[in-house]
Amino acid sequence: MPELTVSLHVHTTYSDGTGTYAEIAQAALETGVDIVLLTDHNVLVQRAEKYYEENQNRVLFLMGEEVHDRTRAIQKNHLLVFGAEKEMVGKAENPQALVDAIAQAGGMSFIAHLYDPAAPAVGEDDISWIDWSVNGFTGIELWNGFSEFKSRLKSKALALFYICFPERIAQGPAQEALQRWDQLLSEGQRVVALGGADAHALSVRIGPFRRTLFPYQFHFQGVNTHLITPKPLSGQLAADKKMVYEAIREGHAFVGYDLPAPTHGFRFSAKSKYQSALMGDEIFPEHGVTLQISLPNRCECRLLKDGKEVKTWINRAVCAYNTTEPGVYRVEAYIQYKGRRRGWIFSNPIYVRG
Ligand SMILES: [Zn+2]
Ligand SMILES: [Zn+2]
Repeated sequence: MPELTVSLHVHTTYSDGTGTYAEIAQAALETGVDIVLLTDHNVLVQRAEKYYEENQNRVLFLMGEEVHDRTRAIQKNHLLVFGAEKEMVGKAENPQALVDAIAQAGGMSFIAHLYDPAAPAVGEDDISWIDWSVNGFTGIELWNGFSEFKSRLKSKALALFYICFPERIAQGPAQEALQRWDQLLSEGQRVVALGGADAHALSVRIGPFRRTLFPYQFHFQGVNTHLITPKPLSGQLAADKKMVYEAIREGHAFVGYDLPAPTHGFRFSAKSKYQSALMGDEIFPEHGVTLQISLPNRCECRLLKDGKEVKTWINRAVCAYNTTEPGVYRVEAYIQYKGRRRGWIFSNPIYVRG
Protein backbone atom coordinates (compact mmCIF):
# COMPACT_ATOMS: atom_id res chain seq x y z
CA MET A 1 0.00 0.00 0.00
CA PRO A 2 1.24 3.53 -0.71
CA GLU A 3 2.79 5.64 2.00
CA LEU A 4 2.48 9.42 2.22
CA THR A 5 4.71 11.71 4.26
CA VAL A 6 2.82 14.46 6.05
CA SER A 7 4.29 17.44 7.84
CA LEU A 8 1.55 18.62 10.13
CA HIS A 9 1.18 21.37 12.69
CA VAL A 10 2.76 24.10 10.58
CA HIS A 11 2.40 27.83 11.27
CA THR A 12 2.52 30.58 8.67
CA THR A 13 2.25 34.36 8.50
CA TYR A 14 -1.47 33.90 9.23
CA SER A 15 -0.39 33.46 12.88
CA ASP A 16 3.09 33.38 14.43
CA GLY A 17 5.03 31.63 11.66
CA THR A 18 7.26 33.63 9.32
CA GLY A 19 6.67 31.77 6.04
CA THR A 20 4.11 32.53 3.36
CA TYR A 21 2.32 29.62 1.67
CA ALA A 22 4.51 30.01 -1.42
CA GLU A 23 7.70 29.88 0.67
CA ILE A 24 6.52 26.88 2.67
CA ALA A 25 5.46 25.10 -0.52
CA GLN A 26 8.92 25.70 -1.97
CA ALA A 27 10.52 24.19 1.15
CA ALA A 28 8.15 21.20 0.97
CA LEU A 29 8.91 20.61 -2.72
CA GLU A 30 12.64 20.71 -1.98
CA THR A 31 12.38 18.15 0.82
CA GLY A 32 9.84 15.83 -0.76
CA VAL A 33 6.99 15.73 1.76
CA ASP A 34 3.70 14.81 0.10
CA ILE A 35 1.32 16.81 2.26
CA VAL A 36 1.59 19.87 4.51
CA LEU A 37 -1.20 20.25 7.03
CA LEU A 38 -1.26 23.87 8.15
CA THR A 39 -2.62 24.80 11.55
CA ASP A 40 -2.40 28.48 12.32
CA HIS A 41 -3.45 29.68 15.77
CA ASN A 42 -7.15 30.39 16.09
CA VAL A 43 -7.79 30.91 12.43
CA LEU A 44 -9.08 28.52 9.78
CA VAL A 45 -7.93 29.87 6.45
CA GLN A 46 -10.61 29.04 3.91
CA ARG A 47 -10.25 28.30 0.18
CA ALA A 48 -6.47 27.90 0.41
CA GLU A 49 -6.25 24.14 -0.08
CA LYS A 50 -4.46 23.25 -3.26
CA TYR A 51 -1.63 21.44 -4.92
CA TYR A 52 1.63 23.29 -5.45
CA GLU A 53 3.62 21.88 -8.34
CA GLU A 54 7.11 22.31 -9.69
CA ASN A 55 8.66 20.18 -12.42
CA GLN A 56 7.54 16.62 -11.69
CA ASN A 57 6.92 17.24 -7.98
CA ARG A 58 3.81 18.32 -6.14
CA VAL A 59 2.74 18.89 -2.58
CA LEU A 60 -0.79 19.03 -1.21
CA PHE A 61 -1.65 21.84 1.20
CA LEU A 62 -4.54 21.13 3.59
CA MET A 63 -5.89 23.57 6.14
CA GLY A 64 -6.53 22.81 9.77
CA GLU A 65 -6.43 25.04 12.82
CA GLU A 66 -4.75 25.12 16.24
CA VAL A 67 -7.33 26.33 18.72
CA HIS A 68 -6.76 27.56 22.25
CA ASP A 69 -8.50 29.90 24.66
CA ARG A 70 -6.84 33.29 24.28
CA THR A 71 -8.45 34.59 27.46
CA ARG A 72 -6.56 32.15 29.70
CA ALA A 73 -3.75 33.70 31.76
CA ILE A 74 -1.35 30.99 30.57
CA GLN A 75 -2.53 29.81 27.21
CA LYS A 76 -2.57 26.04 27.72
CA ASN A 77 -4.78 23.40 26.11
CA HIS A 78 -3.94 23.67 22.42
CA LEU A 79 -6.04 21.51 20.13
CA LEU A 80 -5.32 20.66 16.49
CA VAL A 81 -8.46 20.55 14.36
CA PHE A 82 -8.67 18.89 10.95
CA GLY A 83 -11.63 18.51 8.64
CA ALA A 84 -14.24 20.47 10.63
CA GLU A 85 -14.38 22.98 7.75
CA LYS A 86 -15.57 25.79 9.97
CA GLU A 87 -14.12 28.19 12.49
CA MET A 88 -13.99 26.57 15.95
CA VAL A 89 -12.33 29.29 18.02
CA GLY A 90 -15.66 30.40 19.49
CA LYS A 91 -15.79 27.14 21.50
CA ALA A 92 -12.23 27.39 22.84
CA GLU A 93 -13.23 28.35 26.38
CA ASN A 94 -14.66 24.91 27.14
CA PRO A 95 -12.43 22.06 25.87
CA GLN A 96 -15.21 19.44 26.01
CA ALA A 97 -17.64 21.67 24.12
CA LEU A 98 -14.89 22.32 21.59
CA VAL A 99 -14.14 18.62 21.05
CA ASP A 100 -17.86 17.87 20.77
CA ALA A 101 -18.45 20.68 18.25
CA ILE A 102 -15.56 19.44 16.10
CA ALA A 103 -16.94 15.90 16.12
CA GLN A 104 -20.41 17.19 15.28
CA ALA A 105 -18.96 19.07 12.30
CA GLY A 106 -17.38 15.81 11.08
CA GLY A 107 -13.88 16.91 12.05
CA MET A 108 -11.04 15.43 14.06
CA SER A 109 -9.37 16.80 17.18
CA PHE A 110 -5.86 16.10 18.41
CA ILE A 111 -4.44 17.24 21.73
CA ALA A 112 -1.38 19.28 20.71
CA HIS A 113 1.97 19.17 22.53
CA LEU A 114 0.27 17.42 25.44
CA TYR A 115 3.45 17.72 27.51
CA ASP A 116 5.14 21.08 27.02
CA PRO A 117 7.03 22.07 30.19
CA ALA A 118 8.17 25.55 31.16
CA ALA A 119 11.60 26.81 30.09
CA PRO A 120 12.37 29.54 32.67
CA ALA A 121 15.86 30.16 31.21
CA VAL A 122 14.23 31.61 28.11
CA GLY A 123 11.04 32.88 29.76
CA GLU A 124 8.66 30.28 28.32
CA ASP A 125 5.62 29.00 30.22
CA ASP A 126 4.35 25.46 30.61
CA ILE A 127 1.64 25.09 27.97
CA SER A 128 0.86 21.39 28.43
CA TRP A 129 -2.69 20.11 28.04
CA ILE A 130 -4.26 20.02 31.51
CA ASP A 131 -7.93 19.21 31.05
CA TRP A 132 -7.81 15.41 31.08
CA SER A 133 -11.48 15.03 31.91
CA VAL A 134 -12.13 15.65 28.21
CA ASN A 135 -13.19 12.68 26.12
CA GLY A 136 -14.12 12.00 22.52
CA PHE A 137 -11.02 13.48 20.88
CA THR A 138 -9.50 11.63 17.93
CA GLY A 139 -5.97 11.46 19.24
CA ILE A 140 -2.85 13.16 20.46
CA GLU A 141 0.25 14.80 19.07
CA LEU A 142 2.65 12.29 20.61
CA TRP A 143 5.86 13.92 19.44
CA ASN A 144 6.14 17.68 18.92
CA GLY A 145 9.48 18.85 17.60
CA PHE A 146 9.18 22.34 19.04
CA SER A 147 8.11 21.25 22.57
CA GLU A 148 11.08 18.92 22.62
CA PHE A 149 13.39 21.80 21.73
CA LYS A 150 11.81 23.86 24.52
CA SER A 151 12.30 21.00 27.00
CA ARG A 152 16.08 21.09 26.31
CA LEU A 153 16.46 24.80 27.12
CA LYS A 154 17.78 24.51 30.66
CA SER A 155 20.02 27.57 30.14
CA LYS A 156 20.65 30.31 27.59
CA ALA A 157 23.93 28.60 26.64
CA LEU A 158 22.06 25.38 25.84
CA ALA A 159 19.55 27.37 23.80
CA LEU A 160 22.39 28.74 21.70
CA PHE A 161 23.93 25.28 21.35
CA TYR A 162 20.71 23.73 20.04
CA ILE A 163 20.03 26.65 17.70
CA CYS A 164 23.47 26.03 16.18
CA PHE A 165 23.16 22.22 16.18
CA PRO A 166 19.46 21.52 15.68
CA GLU A 167 20.09 17.94 14.56
CA ARG A 168 21.10 17.20 18.17
CA ILE A 169 17.70 18.11 19.63
CA ALA A 170 15.37 15.23 18.86
CA GLN A 171 15.55 12.15 21.08
CA GLY A 172 11.95 11.00 21.06
CA PRO A 173 8.52 11.81 22.44
CA ALA A 174 8.49 12.94 26.08
CA GLN A 175 8.13 10.01 28.50
CA GLU A 176 5.12 11.85 29.96
CA ALA A 177 3.48 11.79 26.53
CA LEU A 178 4.14 8.08 25.99
CA GLN A 179 2.82 7.26 29.46
CA ARG A 180 -0.29 9.36 28.94
CA TRP A 181 -0.95 7.65 25.61
CA ASP A 182 -0.56 4.18 27.13
CA GLN A 183 -2.89 5.18 29.93
CA LEU A 184 -5.56 6.44 27.51
CA LEU A 185 -5.20 3.23 25.47
CA SER A 186 -5.54 1.12 28.64
CA GLU A 187 -8.96 2.71 29.21
CA GLY A 188 -10.16 0.93 26.09
CA GLN A 189 -10.38 3.81 23.64
CA ARG A 190 -8.65 4.07 20.30
CA VAL A 191 -6.29 7.04 20.40
CA VAL A 192 -4.47 8.00 17.23
CA ALA A 193 -0.92 9.32 17.67
CA LEU A 194 0.57 11.89 15.29
CA GLY A 195 3.97 13.54 15.07
CA GLY A 196 3.96 17.30 14.60
CA ALA A 197 6.58 19.77 13.49
CA ASP A 198 5.08 22.83 15.19
CA ALA A 199 7.07 24.71 12.58
CA HIS A 200 7.30 28.50 12.85
CA ALA A 201 10.67 29.38 11.28
CA LEU A 202 10.94 32.12 13.89
CA SER A 203 13.53 34.82 13.42
CA VAL A 204 15.77 35.32 16.48
CA ARG A 205 18.55 37.76 17.26
CA ILE A 206 21.85 36.39 18.59
CA GLY A 207 24.16 39.30 19.37
CA PRO A 208 24.49 41.31 16.16
CA PHE A 209 23.09 38.50 13.98
CA ARG A 210 19.60 37.52 12.92
CA ARG A 211 19.00 33.88 12.39
CA THR A 212 16.01 31.75 11.41
CA LEU A 213 15.24 29.33 14.16
CA PHE A 214 14.71 26.06 12.28
CA PRO A 215 13.68 26.79 8.70
CA TYR A 216 10.71 24.88 7.31
CA GLN A 217 13.10 22.61 5.39
CA PHE A 218 14.56 21.47 8.71
CA HIS A 219 11.14 20.50 10.07
CA PHE A 220 10.13 18.70 6.88
CA GLN A 221 13.17 16.43 7.30
CA GLY A 222 12.41 15.90 10.98
CA VAL A 223 9.36 14.55 12.83
CA ASN A 224 6.71 13.61 10.28
CA THR A 225 3.54 11.57 10.24
CA HIS A 226 3.57 8.79 7.65
CA LEU A 227 0.21 7.57 6.37
CA ILE A 228 -0.63 4.24 4.79
CA THR A 229 -3.31 4.80 2.17
CA PRO A 230 -5.20 2.51 -0.21
CA LYS A 231 -4.10 4.51 -3.26
CA PRO A 232 -1.43 7.05 -4.18
CA LEU A 233 -2.45 10.71 -4.40
CA SER A 234 -4.33 11.30 -7.64
CA GLY A 235 -3.97 15.06 -7.94
CA GLN A 236 -7.74 15.48 -7.42
CA LEU A 237 -8.02 17.70 -4.36
CA ALA A 238 -11.36 16.53 -2.95
CA ALA A 239 -10.71 12.80 -3.36
CA ASP A 240 -7.17 13.03 -2.03
CA LYS A 241 -8.20 15.08 0.97
CA LYS A 242 -10.90 12.55 1.85
CA MET A 243 -8.42 9.67 1.61
CA VAL A 244 -5.79 11.47 3.69
CA TYR A 245 -8.25 12.39 6.44
CA GLU A 246 -9.61 8.85 6.55
CA ALA A 247 -6.10 7.45 7.02
CA ILE A 248 -5.49 9.92 9.86
CA ARG A 249 -8.82 9.15 11.51
CA GLU A 250 -8.16 5.40 11.36
CA GLY A 251 -4.62 5.80 12.68
CA HIS A 252 -3.17 4.11 9.59
CA ALA A 253 -0.02 5.98 10.46
CA PHE A 254 3.30 6.06 12.22
CA VAL A 255 5.44 8.86 13.55
CA GLY A 256 8.86 8.93 11.91
CA TYR A 257 11.90 11.06 12.65
CA ASP A 258 13.34 11.21 9.16
CA LEU A 259 16.62 13.01 9.77
CA PRO A 260 18.84 10.11 11.00
CA ALA A 261 17.56 7.82 8.23
CA PRO A 262 14.36 7.85 6.15
CA THR A 263 11.57 5.99 7.94
CA HIS A 264 9.73 5.43 4.65
CA GLY A 265 8.94 1.73 4.28
CA PHE A 266 8.27 0.94 7.93
CA ARG A 267 5.24 -1.27 8.38
CA PHE A 268 3.45 -2.85 11.33
CA SER A 269 0.61 -5.22 10.50
CA ALA A 270 -1.25 -8.24 11.83
CA LYS A 271 -2.70 -11.37 10.33
CA SER A 272 -5.06 -13.96 11.72
CA LYS A 273 -6.71 -16.86 9.96
CA TYR A 274 -9.47 -14.74 8.41
CA GLN A 275 -8.37 -11.15 8.94
CA SER A 276 -5.56 -8.71 8.43
CA ALA A 277 -4.98 -5.39 10.15
CA LEU A 278 -2.94 -2.24 9.68
CA MET A 279 -1.72 0.11 12.37
CA GLY A 280 -4.80 1.69 13.92
CA ASP A 281 -7.03 -1.32 13.22
CA GLU A 282 -8.71 -3.81 15.52
CA ILE A 283 -8.33 -7.53 14.94
CA PHE A 284 -10.26 -10.37 16.54
CA PRO A 285 -8.10 -13.48 16.42
CA GLU A 286 -9.77 -16.85 16.17
CA HIS A 287 -6.65 -18.90 16.80
CA GLY A 288 -3.97 -16.36 17.45
CA VAL A 289 -2.48 -13.58 15.43
CA THR A 290 0.90 -12.90 13.84
CA LEU A 291 2.27 -9.39 14.24
CA GLN A 292 4.70 -8.38 11.50
CA ILE A 293 7.16 -5.50 11.45
CA SER A 294 9.27 -4.31 8.49
CA LEU A 295 12.12 -1.92 9.14
CA PRO A 296 13.89 0.23 6.53
CA ASN A 297 17.18 0.50 8.42
CA ARG A 298 19.28 -1.06 11.17
CA CYS A 299 17.76 -0.14 14.51
CA GLU A 300 16.56 -1.37 17.89
CA CYS A 301 12.94 -2.44 17.49
CA ARG A 302 10.71 -2.85 20.53
CA LEU A 303 7.26 -4.43 20.51
CA LEU A 304 5.06 -3.26 23.40
CA LYS A 305 1.82 -4.73 24.68
CA ASP A 306 -0.28 -2.47 26.91
CA GLY A 307 2.72 -0.19 27.37
CA LYS A 308 5.12 -2.98 28.41
CA GLU A 309 7.88 -4.39 26.27
CA VAL A 310 7.31 -7.95 25.09
CA LYS A 311 10.21 -8.35 22.68
CA THR A 312 13.21 -6.46 21.27
CA TRP A 313 15.00 -7.14 17.99
CA ILE A 314 18.35 -5.61 17.04
CA ASN A 315 19.23 -4.75 13.43
CA ARG A 316 16.56 -6.91 11.83
CA ALA A 317 14.79 -6.02 8.58
CA VAL A 318 11.73 -8.14 9.38
CA CYS A 319 10.31 -9.21 12.74
CA ALA A 320 7.36 -11.45 13.57
CA TYR A 321 5.60 -12.27 16.83
CA ASN A 322 2.81 -14.77 17.38
CA THR A 323 0.31 -14.25 20.13
CA THR A 324 -3.09 -15.33 21.35
CA GLU A 325 -3.22 -12.63 24.00
CA PRO A 326 -5.54 -9.67 23.53
CA GLY A 327 -3.93 -6.29 24.11
CA VAL A 328 -2.85 -3.04 22.55
CA TYR A 329 0.33 -3.69 20.59
CA ARG A 330 2.58 -0.94 19.30
CA VAL A 331 6.15 -0.59 18.03
CA GLU A 332 8.97 1.77 18.95
CA ALA A 333 12.25 1.86 17.03
CA TYR A 334 15.44 3.58 18.15
CA ILE A 335 18.48 4.47 16.07
CA GLN A 336 22.02 5.66 16.77
CA TYR A 337 22.59 9.18 15.48
CA LYS A 338 25.00 11.95 16.47
CA GLY A 339 26.48 9.95 19.32
CA ARG A 340 23.32 8.76 21.03
CA ARG A 341 20.29 6.51 20.88
CA ARG A 342 17.34 8.43 19.51
CA GLY A 343 13.67 7.71 18.95
CA TRP A 344 13.12 6.98 15.28
CA ILE A 345 9.71 5.35 14.70
CA PHE A 346 6.56 5.19 16.86
CA SER A 347 3.73 3.19 15.34
CA ASN A 348 0.06 3.50 15.99
CA PRO A 349 -1.28 0.45 17.82
CA ILE A 350 -2.91 -2.67 16.53
CA TYR A 351 -5.77 -3.51 18.87
CA VAL A 352 -5.92 -7.28 19.41
CA ARG A 353 -9.35 -7.71 20.94
CA GLY A 354 -10.57 -10.62 23.06
ZN1 LIG B 1 0.46 25.09 20.31
ZN1 LIG C 1 1.60 25.26 17.19
